[in-house]
Amino acid sequence: MIEMINVYKKYPNGIVAANGINVEIEQGEFLYVVGPSGAGKSTFIKMMYREERPTSGEIIINGTNLAKLKASRVPYLRRQIGVVFQDFKLLPKLNVYENVAYALEVIEEAPSVIRTRVMEVLELVGLKHKARMFPTELSGGEQQRVSIARSIVNTPKLVIADEPTGNLDPETSWEIMNIFEEINARGTTIIMATHNREIVNTIKHRVIAIEGGLITRDDARGDYGYEG
Ligand code: ADP
Ligand code: ADP
Repeated sequence: MIEMINVYKKYPNGIVAANGINVEIEQGEFLYVVGPSGAGKSTFIKMMYREERPTSGEIIINGTNLAKLKASRVPYLRRQIGVVFQDFKLLPKLNVYENVAYALEVIEEAPSVIRTRVMEVLELVGLKHKARMFPTELSGGEQQRVSIARSIVNTPKLVIADEPTGNLDPETSWEIMNIFEEINARGTTIIMATHNREIVNTIKHRVIAIEGGLITRDDARGDYGYEG
């Protein structure tokens, strides 16, 4: 479903964050992306939803070549990809329900469909009872649950998460992982950048390590693999 061929990314300041990346990811995979800070993990992830463009190389997602994708088609691409961030990025003036419904309102989905689907994903993340609360009234773990609900409300085939447990305590992190496992079990591809050694070494999945803009390891059911 995802293929990167000789992907190279040089930022305007001269930093090379991807230095010839080649990778294939199948539909339904769960992939951890590990590596030191500054290695290029976020850049790798951002290029998949066209937050950043490669300087050269090809990125093909579900048959669409992102390098050739017109700017006018980017919103359409983004609707097929759910994105979850370390800092949640919820809209503070909207309540939980509205934060999740937003993506469906933008595409003018029928109100009855929106209501059913939003309550369905809030139930999946265990927050149906907090639909009327605002982000500031929720714990970090609950905010991340809302953000996961928002990421899947469009039923994307791919969910990308950049250090989703980075701001959460260990127990909450495991709860969040259980939700990602559930989403993956239903067939959604998950790509997750993480520094969480315990999780990577316990819930085994494919691991790719990025260092200096290059993939240095790619193991099915791999380990986190860094000390300290
Ligand atoms: P990681 O997610 O592994 O910490 P990043 O992809 O964020 O790595 O960064 C890789 C390298 O690219 C770092 O040296 C970083 O400073 C640089 N970088 C990231 N984003 C930008 C940007 N927008 N402009 C310039 N340099 C950037
Ligand atoms: P239940 O199945 O428990 O009756 P509901 O579907 O009635 O759940 O809604 C659960 C919560 O979501 C309630 O607090 C409800 O007011 C809230 N809610 C439902 N629809 C909306 C909406 N359009 N905007 C804001 N909150 C909503």
